[in-house]
Amino acid sequence: MDYEKFFADKVDALKAEGRYRVFADLERQAGSFPRATNHQGNAVSDVTVWCSNDYLGMGQHPVVIEAMHEALDKCGAGAGGTRNISGTNHYHVLLEQELADLHGKEAGLIFTSGYVANLTTLSTIGSLMADCVILSDALNHNSMIAGIKHSRADKKIFKHNDLADLEAKLKEIDPARPKMVAFESVYSMDGDIAPIKDILDIAEAYGALTFIDEVHAVGMYGQRGGGVAERDDLMDRIDIIQGTLAKAFGVVGGYIAGSAAMCDFIRSYGDGFIFSSSVPPSVAAGALASVKYVKEHNELREQHQERAATLKARLKEAGLPVMPSVSHIVPVLVGDATLCKQASDELMFRYGIYVQPINYPTVARGTERLRFTPTPLHDDTLMDELVAALTDVWKRLGLDKVKVAA
Ligand SMILES: *Cc1c(COP(=O)(O)O)cnc(C)c1O
Repeated sequence: MDYEKFFADKVDALKAEGRYRVFADLERQAGSFPRATNHQGNAVSDVTVWCSNDYLGMGQHPVVIEAMHEALDKCGAGAGGTRNISGTNHYHVLLEQELADLHGKEAGLIFTSGYVANLTTLSTIGSLMADCVILSDALNHNSMIAGIKHSRADKKIFKHNDLADLEAKLKEIDPARPKMVAFESVYSMDGDIAPIKDILDIAEAYGALTFIDEVHAVGMYGQRGGGVAERDDLMDRIDIIQGTLAKAFGVVGGYIAGSAAMCDFIRSYGDGFIFSSSVPPSVAAGALASVKYVKEHNELREQHQERAATLKARLKEAGLPVMPSVSHIVPVLVGDATLCKQASDELMFRYGIYVQPINYPTVARGTERLRFTPTPLHDDTLMDELVAALTDVWKRLGLDKVKVAA
């Protein structure tokens, strides 16, 4: 077997389809978000980032940076171990308390990433709860799918946000079996939001445990940033709320919040929690400062929503095919992998506007898109520049301005 050829051929197949991933080599500029320096070989240029998941710019907030500096100087670089073996630093404990409070739950548990939080929590429950069936939304994130697969529990995939299908699938299951419904609040590629209350009504009627991924909502929805479940006053009805510290909170790490018994169970049995070194104290301190700040500054959420609404309106006015998002996500349909990459390249190299093309398997083929994430720091001038550049690129590439997404 020619192993090198195998690797190269697999990658060439992606290139032929126009969905080979090229990373923008960026240097973020603290204090000038959303500006960044883009490296291209030996050349450098300034770009405006339009696709960051640092949704509120907290990754560069002085309060967060200062907390991280302080903890770094006080505690050093690494945590020094797994949580069980010398790696629990006081900042971890404080952060878990803060997250429990954010979601109105008894306990919180942090992981090295949101991915690991989903993978570990779902796989641990699914594998140890004998005879459990997991009901999973068809558009759930890869990390949830990985956790469900890894659990080897029986699974049923219900149509995206489809209550009738969810109920029909629950009905088929022996009432005596334990069940868990796993779904997200904000789906980050389309920007739609789950009918959380209705899902909970059904799950409760069938005695199912509920797991929600609020990764694209924590920090951004609800009076204190507890997510869509807080906004809709539903947090107390959800068994497990999962979130990230890497998106709106601007740092890195993931977590779950729920009952003391559930968190203690995952803490005690979750491989991805147990066998991995904990995040550095400085990271926990930065996340702690960020969560606290975001909790107390609802105006950030108001500005964020206003910016997203304004961008959607401006793109529509310009005749660009904005997809029907009800959240802060602003997807613009291209519908072809190669053209999507070309549009992204044109924006970057002609206009200094960076937006990553979103292709299969992140979204379905034929729905390739540019996904814009305006933050409170994307002002009207930046929006004017974006709309003008997009209008020009759409003409240049002959992208049909009339064929608007469903
Ligand atoms: C990004 C993402 C995750 C993973 O979170 P990280 O902290 O980035 O590992 C989980 N779920 C969803 C829906 C995501 O978009």
